[in-house]
Amino acid sequence: MDYKHFSHPHNLIIHRVYELGQQVNCSGCDSACDNTTTAVHACHQCNFFLHDHCANAGRYVKHPSHQPHPLILLPHPTYAGGTFICNACGHPGKSFSYCCTLCEFDLHVGCAFLPVSVTHQAHQHELNLFYGVPVVPRRGSNTDLEYCNICRKVLEGRHWAYSCQKCEFNLHTACATTEVVPGLYHDDSPAYGAAEGKSTVADGGGGGGNVVEVELTEEDIIQLYRLQMLAQSMASLSTTG
Ligand SMILES: [Zn+2]
Ligand SMILES: [Zn+2]
Ligand SMILES: [Zn+2]
Ligand SMILES: [Zn+2]
Ligand SMILES: [Zn+2]
Ligand SMILES: [Zn+2]
Repeated sequence: MDYKHFSHPHNLIIHRVYELGQQVNCSGCDSACDNTTTAVHACHQCNFFLHDHCANAGRYVKHPSHQPHPLILLPHPTYAGGTFICNACGHPGKSFSYCCTLCEFDLHVGCAFLPVSVTHQAHQHELNLFYGVPVVPRRGSNTDLEYCNICRKVLEGRHWAYSCQKCEFNLHTACATTEVVPGLYHDDSPAYGAAEGKSTVADGGGGGGNVVEVELTEEDIIQLYRLQMLAQSMASLSTTG
């Protein structure tokens, strides 16, 4: 079965990963399509591959971490240099991003769909997602820095973290989700939830709510994108002129 994906000029063929017989990288999230991948969408001519969950990522989301504006899925960053810096994890990306062009706010696809809570073997309690490191009262500490309880590196306050506030146990999103299979948290069915690295997507969790995917037509998206670009150019005109 083949079909057209908006991010690629040619039709894509859907494969089960074992049919590929080679290690390939997803052109959506820049990570490997490994044995946890259920299916791969491929254009062999171009060496273009997408995870099933990356190919099915909604074109437009209202994300609780960026309330004022909708985020649009861009196949490539529009910034000079061709990379974006993810507002969730602070790491660069050069493939798909959920972007607010007005605010230059960008999220990796994987970061946009992080579960609102996870369990991790490093801690006995559930960890909740915070859009910024939660501020906890310091006891006899002379530093404002928070450190990740797994990798021991600094947690930047502006980046997202998983936290058990009661225990002041904070983790980088990447460190907290090593046991979470990408894409599965898209589906909150009990069968997936029971899988290893269980995650839940629940209403009103610590992360502050769910990502809402909105069904829009291609024309709606183009219109929305034009409006954002227009507003952006107006804003830059009024500040530079
Ligand atoms: Zn991917
Ligand atoms: Zn192609
Ligand atoms: Zn990210
Ligand atoms: Zn915005
Ligand atoms: Zn860490
Ligand atoms: Zn705890």
